[in-house]
Amino acid sequence: MNIKIVPLPAEKMKTKISDQSKLGFGKYFTDRMLMVEWKAGQGWCDVRIEPYAPFVLDPACLVFHYAQEIFEGLKAYKWADGRIALFRPEMNARRFNQSGDRLCLPPVPEELFLKGIEQLVSLERDWIPTAEGTSLYIRPTLIAVEPVLGVKPSDHYYFYVILSPVGAYYAAGFNPINIMVEDQYVRAVPGGTGEAKCGGNYASSLKAGLEAKKKGYDQVLWLDGRERRYIEEVGAMNMFFVYGTHIVTAALNGSILSGVTRDSVLKLAPSLGYTVEERQIDVHDLMADIRSGKVTEAFGSGTAAVITPVGKLCYMDECLQLTGGNVGEVTQRLYDTLTGIQTGKLKDEFGWVRFVE
Ligand SMILES: *Cc1c(COP(=O)(O)O)cnc(C)c1O
Repeated sequence: MNIKIVPLPAEKMKTKISDQSKLGFGKYFTDRMLMVEWKAGQGWCDVRIEPYAPFVLDPACLVFHYAQEIFEGLKAYKWADGRIALFRPEMNARRFNQSGDRLCLPPVPEELFLKGIEQLVSLERDWIPTAEGTSLYIRPTLIAVEPVLGVKPSDHYYFYVILSPVGAYYAAGFNPINIMVEDQYVRAVPGGTGEAKCGGNYASSLKAGLEAKKKGYDQVLWLDGRERRYIEEVGAMNMFFVYGTHIVTAALNGSILSGVTRDSVLKLAPSLGYTVEERQIDVHDLMADIRSGKVTEAFGSGTAAVITPVGKLCYMDECLQLTGGNVGEVTQRLYDTLTGIQTGKLKDEFGWVRFVE
C-alpha cells in the first residue's frame, strides 16, 4: 500500500497545548489527517496523509441528508520508553467494516485501516500527550459524499482519520457518575442499527441525554427497545454490574454495541480472580439486587473513558447509591490493570498492544 505524504508547510503547523491538564476531550486536532476516497467502479484510491483542513462538500451530499456514515474510536499511548502503542486496533478495523456493512458502506481493507493509522500516528507522534490519563484519540470516519437527493447507497465516499490529544473524558476525572435509566426514549431496536457505530444512533440519543442532564444526571442507561425492561448500555459505554467477585454484563443481542473495552474486561477479569457472565439483565431484578446489597459496584466501559464508576442509578422514582458513592475495589483494579497494560506499566499478557513503527 502506497500512502502519499502531502508536505506540511511550516506555517500550517499548530501550536500544541502546553498544559496537558487542559486538553479536555476532542477539542484539539493535530496537523495532519489520513484521507482516502472510494469511487464506484474504481474502489479505494488516492491514499494520502495531508494537512488537517476543512472539507469543501456539496450541500446535497448523501451524508448530510440520510446519515450514511460510520466512525470508530481508539487511542495511541506514548510509553515511558518512547514507544507508541495502539490498543487492539484490529478489533476496531473489524468492527468498522461490520458497522459499514449495516449501512451499505464499502469495506475498508484491514491493512489500509491499520497501516494508514500507524503511519499517521507515527508522523504526528509529537502530539501524543504523556501526562497521567492522557492519550491520542484516533477517529476513523467514513462518509457518503455523492451529491444526490435520492435515497440510495452513495457512489463516492471519503474515509478519513483525524487525531485529537485528549485528557480525561469526564471533567471531574475518575469519579462516580450518576445514571438515569431511560424509560421513555429508546436507542435501538432488534434489527435496527444499535450494533453499528454510526452517527445516527447518537443523533437520536441527544434528546434523552439533554433531559437527563437537566435533571442532574450524567448519562442515561438504555433499556431494550421492545419491552423497555432489559439493560442495554450507556451512551458510549457498555455496562457492568459487580456481585462481590462475580461480574455481569448484558449479552450482545444485536442492538448493543460490541465494545473493545467490554471484551477486554471480560477477558481480563478472570485473570484477576473474578468470574464473568454475559446475560439478559432485567432492570427490576437489577434494582432489587442493588437495594439488597447484592450488587456491590457498577461501572461503564468504553475507549474514551476506559472504565467509569457509577455512583447512583435511578429508575422511575427510585434512586439507589452504589458502593457508598465511592469507587469500588473491582472497578479500581480493572481500571488500573487495563490502563496499566495500555500505557506499558504492566505486562501485556494478552497480546493486545500493537506498536507503531
Ligand atoms: C464506541 C461505543 C461503545 C464502547 O466501545 P469501545 O470499543 O469499548 O470503545 C459502547 N457503546 C456505544 C454505543 C459506542 O458507540
